[in-house]
Amino acid sequence: MTEPGTTQTLPEKTDEPPPDVIDTSKMSTGQRKALEITEAARESGHREVSFVADLFMGRWTPRKLYPYREPDQSERETGDAFLGKLSKFLKENVDPDEIDQTGEISQEILDGLAGLGAFGIKVGRQYGGLGLSQWTYCKASTLIGSYCSNLFAMLSVHQSVGVSQPLILFGTEEQKQKFLPRVAKGEISAFALTEDKVGSDPGRMETRAEPTEDGQHFILNGEKLWCSNGLKAGVIVVTAKTPPKMVKGRQRDQITAFLLDMDTPGIENIHRCHFMGLRALYNGVIRFTDVKVPRENIIEAEGKGLKVALTTLNSGRLSIPAACAGVSKRCLQIAREWSNDRVQWGASIGKHAAIADKIRHIAANIFAMESMVGVTARMVDRDKKADIRLEAAITKLWGTEKTWEIADSTMQIRGGRGYETVQSLKNRGETPYPVERIMRDSRINTVFEGSSEIMRLFIMREALDPHLKVAGAVLNTQLPWSTRIKAAFKSSLFYVRWYPKQWSPFGGEIPEGMSPQLGRQFQYVARTSRRLSRTLFHQMVRVGPALEKKQVLLARIADIGTDLFAISASCVRAQQMLDDKVGDGTVCQLVDDFCAETRLRIEEAFRGIKQNTDDRGYRLTQEVLGGNYQWLENGIVEIQYNNPESVEEPTN
Ligand SMILES: Cc1cc2nc3c(=O)[nH]c(=O)nc-3n(C[C@H](O)[C@H](O)[C@H](O)COP(=O)(O)OP(=O)(O)OC[C@H]3O[C@@H](n4cnc5c(N)ncnc54)[C@H](O)[C@@H]3O)c2cc1C
Repeated sequence: MTEPGTTQTLPEKTDEPPPDVIDTSKMSTGQRKALEITEAARESGHREVSFVADLFMGRWTPRKLYPYREPDQSERETGDAFLGKLSKFLKENVDPDEIDQTGEISQEILDGLAGLGAFGIKVGRQYGGLGLSQWTYCKASTLIGSYCSNLFAMLSVHQSVGVSQPLILFGTEEQKQKFLPRVAKGEISAFALTEDKVGSDPGRMETRAEPTEDGQHFILNGEKLWCSNGLKAGVIVVTAKTPPKMVKGRQRDQITAFLLDMDTPGIENIHRCHFMGLRALYNGVIRFTDVKVPRENIIEAEGKGLKVALTTLNSGRLSIPAACAGVSKRCLQIAREWSNDRVQWGASIGKHAAIADKIRHIAANIFAMESMVGVTARMVDRDKKADIRLEAAITKLWGTEKTWEIADSTMQIRGGRGYETVQSLKNRGETPYPVERIMRDSRINTVFEGSSEIMRLFIMREALDPHLKVAGAVLNTQLPWSTRIKAAFKSSLFYVRWYPKQWSPFGGEIPEGMSPQLGRQFQYVARTSRRLSRTLFHQMVRVGPALEKKQVLLARIADIGTDLFAISASCVRAQQMLDDKVGDGTVCQLVDDFCAETRLRIEEAFRGIKQNTDDRGYRLTQEVLGGNYQWLENGIVEIQYNNPESVEEPTN
């Protein structure tokens, strides 16, 4: 028997339900439905499992990551020329503070960006786009993110989740011919999944699309919340429930994704939403009343809408950490300049250890963040069908959380000035570092396109997948005993071979050509991945099916895997910089420092898995939620929040 998840041939495309690897018998109807929908939408059938998936199984496969190669010369030249023009355009034509203050992006800016091709960076040239790589798209995201988060959000929603990415991945030739030239040339697009009751749980979707009698159209009714770009979009992707299908004798909900022209009768933008940051997002609530959508506007197939959304998000969500790298670089520039200039207590503040420590973390984390984005983007470019689910989720999770820490540190380094608005600083004649705006704009990154909590659950679902495939059926009380006994036999055969390997004390092979200094870090990753895989296995055995509920414990495991990928990506990129003689030899010092800190964090997470107060904390929370500690809320002005009166909102 081969180890699960090793090289496999692609299975035939099938409409079969996922295998019974998860016991849903003890779940509430809501939980079961949510799980069934997301399980059915999971991507599967990749040719090869990814580097990170291997790490969670204690397998060391550095060839999947190393060597790190930038795109070929022609792509680099075209990409660099585009990035150069984009940078010049932003500097000369865009005032990010004005956009923040007015909440508007002018038509001149939109036209200028469209003229540069910034709305169709990855769209093929045959459809009117620039036809550039994921790598260049991420570089553009870093560039724009470093300057104006509002513009980044607009362009990213448009290209990462709006119409072009789902069509590049799933569109028919007719759909591509019809829609891609429009969006590549600057017609804004959006993606509408979220509803009042649908945040992280698409099972609760209420927007419905019923087929007409002749089956040629669907009639769409419902309301979508927080649709970014929605107020300016000419075309959007909208998800809706379509008639359920019978699967194994049970009705299973179907979610379908449609392309929708926004001038179709029955569509109304009923509210513009305003936020603490990203004030020019053109985000709104969209109502659909008896909207007639042609069947040919379905993306991929009826019932595949969530799969379209989740697959789109895999590479789509990479633009967010790429932009985060840009924000973090801006923070480093501000922190460096200010820490040198500002003198307190007889020395520049950068000389005080407490401030120096923050700057060290900012610098090292930027390198790791950019490396993770770069490595994962190159995986996409090498093979559009590569399995990058774990790498992309990890990069999004890590990049957004670290950027928030970096923004927070930068604010602390700037002291009171960090809290002051750009306009106020300007009016007092001070350098207008936009730290206050950066903080407001960055906070949402850990929430949208997959919140951190959901990313950790997603990572752990994928990390556990090989075990579920081998042993899931054994624990599934819904299956007949004969099936479970057969599964138990098969799984014991697997674990008898796999488990002893996880105790091997040796490091992993160092790839040829890697410097010994970086190679040692690689060996640490190899050793620690086996410790991680056996820890995960021990927890599965100790906790059993209830492991799924131990989210805090699972988060520690997810975070260890995340940090191991951060070290690995940093090492392969550092090696390339050494080979190319870039960075004046400073790169090894930076990577060494990053790894030293990260190893401490990993040790702490392992300790936390062994010894923690998670269960008692959870019990206490349930008491708090039950109202037993409501006395803690005494002494504040009593306000009734449950019946808000509608009040006129200021525009910003
Ligand atoms: C500025 C902005 C722009 C947006 N743009 C778009 C867009 O263009 N298109 C679109 O469709 N949507 C968009 N969204 C929606 C966004 O993707 C959602 O906010 C996000 O999916 C989270 O949903 P929610 O806010 O309803 O939180 P909920 O799902 O209600 O979650 C609330 C909290 O509980 C946590 N949580 C939820 N479930 C679990 C669980 N099972 N285990 C542990 N923790 C859990 C979450 O992580 C979160 O911390 C946007 C939102 C904002 C604020």
